[in-house]
Amino acid sequence: MTPLPPGSTIGILGGGQLGRMLSQAASRLGFNVVILDPEENSPAGRVSQGQVVAAYDDLTALTVLGRVAQAVTFEFENVPAASVATLAEGGALVAPGPKALAVAQDRVEEKTFLNGVGATTVDFAAIDSLDDLVAGLERLGTPALLKTRREGYDGKGQVWIRSAKMVADAWHAVGERPAILEARADFTRELSVIAARGRDGAVTVYPLGENVHQGGVLKTTRAPAAIDARTEKRARAIATSILEGLDYVGVLGVELFDLGESRLLVNEIAPRVHNTGHWTQDGCACDQFEQHIRAIAGWPLGPTAAHARVEMTNLLGDEVEQWKALSGKPDARLHLYGKAEARPGRKMGHVNRVKPLGRP
Ligand code: AMP
Repeated sequence: MTPLPPGSTIGILGGGQLGRMLSQAASRLGFNVVILDPEENSPAGRVSQGQVVAAYDDLTALTVLGRVAQAVTFEFENVPAASVATLAEGGALVAPGPKALAVAQDRVEEKTFLNGVGATTVDFAAIDSLDDLVAGLERLGTPALLKTRREGYDGKGQVWIRSAKMVADAWHAVGERPAILEARADFTRELSVIAARGRDGAVTVYPLGENVHQGGVLKTTRAPAAIDARTEKRARAIATSILEGLDYVGVLGVELFDLGESRLLVNEIAPRVHNTGHWTQDGCACDQFEQHIRAIAGWPLGPTAAHARVEMTNLLGDEVEQWKALSGKPDARLHLYGKAEARPGRKMGHVNRVKPLGRP
């Protein structure tokens, strides 16, 4: 495809922090950005040329966005399939495409796809009833993790089952909805890999990040992760096979469990820029946000090598008040999302602590 020239308009569904940082990257490359989000004055809307205030399934709003924008993308994966179709009918190039969204929206589809392209996951069972759960638990053993099939994130909609006695309560806890039962991954640490595929099929992969979660929410990412060459190679191969299997365009996040001895399992994928890729803003010449804009606009992908070591820490809820102390630290790069209300656990910003490569 001919690259979209600066001055073109990019539409982004979702006005949160990911949309905001995508918009800032797009703006630096000379694009105009229009956000679609039901909330007025969203964090992304406030740094963009325009915002359509409407629901994500408002077909009129989507048609308008599809007409004004030459390319449209998302900051979250739970975009209704009908919305993607409407955007495409409006004439916009939509990326990532419907296959990536369908796979990422359903944990059973996701794991089935992943294993099909050689990106191994934990053993799992699709659960549609209490009987399925009993049978699944017998096969997978305890402890096992029951997750809703759709719309779970940051550890929400998940319950550990530690004994057969807990089955009925667990089924109730996930709302007696279609679910997935996962065997426990005995990981030594959690890693992630951020990768991108351009419209011409070119693939680039960033160095891996090592992640620490608290209460199901990401707390820190350290990158580049201390990792042996075989594990790095394996992670790159996994990311590439997923991107190619989905005929993907854009940035993709892949969460991995490191089992040691270069063995990796895929936990889940995110068809978008990812919180564990925020370190690239201060560790790489072309960060994940610019990379995503480059990919969807049909530009060549940028370089992904790290020029610094970064520890990214999310500022959750009133931790955002640390901005005062952090703003005086020479190694701290602050990224604040402009959210008015610091509700507990809400992602308000992040800080990248930057060190030269090679220093511990
Ligand atoms: P998820 O929402 O699937 O990313 O899960 C949130 C967190 O729960 C992960 O980052 C892991 O720390 C943990 N987790 C998820 N699935 C498993 C599993 N099958 N075995 C062990 N831990 C898990």
